[in-house]
Amino acid sequence: MPPESLQRMRQTKIVATLGPTSSDYDQIKALCDAGVDVFRLNFSHGTAQDHRGCAAIIRKVEEEVGRPLGILADLQGPKLRLGTFEADEIKLQQGQKFRLDLSPEDGNETRAPLPHPEIFAILQKGSQILLDDGKVRLRVVENGHDFALTEVEAGTKLSNRKGVNVPNAILPLSPLTEKDRADLEIALELGVDWVALSFVQRAEDVIEARKLIDGRAAVLAKLEKPAAIKSLKAILEQADGVMVARGDLGVEMPPEDVPRAQKLILREARYVGKPAIVATQMLESMISAPTPTRAEASDVATAVYDGADAVMLSAETASGAYPVQAVAIMDRIARRTQMDLSDNGGFVSDVPRQHTSADAITAAAKQVAQAMDAVAIITYTAQGSTTLRAARERPSVPIMGLTPKLKTARRLALSFGVYPVFTPDAKSFSEMVCKAVSIAREKGLAQVGERVVITAGVPFGRPGSTNILRIALLKDEDVPQEMPFHE
Ligand code: PGA
Ligand code: MN
Repeated sequence: MPPESLQRMRQTKIVATLGPTSSDYDQIKALCDAGVDVFRLNFSHGTAQDHRGCAAIIRKVEEEVGRPLGILADLQGPKLRLGTFEADEIKLQQGQKFRLDLSPEDGNETRAPLPHPEIFAILQKGSQILLDDGKVRLRVVENGHDFALTEVEAGTKLSNRKGVNVPNAILPLSPLTEKDRADLEIALELGVDWVALSFVQRAEDVIEARKLIDGRAAVLAKLEKPAAIKSLKAILEQADGVMVARGDLGVEMPPEDVPRAQKLILREARYVGKPAIVATQMLESMISAPTPTRAEASDVATAVYDGADAVMLSAETASGAYPVQAVAIMDRIARRTQMDLSDNGGFVSDVPRQHTSADAITAAAKQVAQAMDAVAIITYTAQGSTTLRAARERPSVPIMGLTPKLKTARRLALSFGVYPVFTPDAKSFSEMVCKAVSIAREKGLAQVGERVVITAGVPFGRPGSTNILRIALLKDEDVPQEMPFHE
């Protein structure tokens, strides 16, 4: 495969979180142009009005650029957070006393509001409390049913609404809080494509959310509790995708266990052909610097080598000083790294797969593409399964996902190597070939004289019935027919 063809498309997708520094049209358009595939609305922050505004702008930008963009609504889940400070940010001294309590008043250098009675109920003298992804460490010296007096063991800076973890404690919390249920309604009203569930502990948590969501969005389980890693296979069965949520995961388990958890999750997700995102602190220093550290560049590259479907930016794009630069450098690292991937998407050994005829045809499509030096694999899909099956093979050429369902196109924006296109189904076999070829050309993924491999399930519209494989040489000049971005 000539590297030049690989460069036509970045295979690892980019998810960018929107926030205060990236909520207006110009910023969202610039992020899209820099390479964002999926925008994340973080329901831990912002108002319904903020999210509504962002979603409307994303759809406008999508229509302008003619490329399906995914929207991922990230529900806060039973995440424990501090309240706010009078000065928005405070400085702590190691060794000082710091009080946490139920009073809703803004905090200061001596106390902070912690609006979670269930924490005070399980704390004991000597318990450890971690704040802001473990950057601040407190030790309980005295406590009651509505307060805890602690000593600061580590950490000096604390700002509004930072996360709180109590390691080793099991808190009796539902996976969907009252706030999550209300946010979910808003998210579904906005027509988001993915809903991410935070602090999933068991497959039942996903099942419960799935019932509420009822097919209106795909469901993504954030893996950020050690318990979730133990139930990984069961969770993957219920979810449509997963996130390696390294922020909270790395607080709840020792940091040295996180890299292998990342590799394990990515391998298992690929095994079942569901997209996996690697998230948190990928380019953390770019919150305040225009270039990343070398270690951060290496972290993004490792996720690509590990075969992640997508890499994610959080504060870097939501509240950092260099959101567009962060996306641009992530794009460059991913493009540069994918040139080194073997034809197996970076996986050391191949994964065993189910031997259905659909899987066999899809595996063959990759081999044929390699043998014929084809420049793209083109899939026809309604629900996305034919395209996901191709993505699971991690071919070195782009996978076009042609679908008559806008929802499917947008969901596929998250998947490795997939270039989704919203277009009506072909009515005949010859039209299917003709259309595939002309769209590949129009999108710049193939040129006259090059070959593409086409897979589909015929008749169209029956999920899981991939049964067609066809090689086509680009020679015609057909005008592609695409639909505008509304249903
Ligand atoms: P968060 O999730 O940013 O919503 O906390 C990601 C993580 O914990 O890594
Ligand atoms: Mn988290």
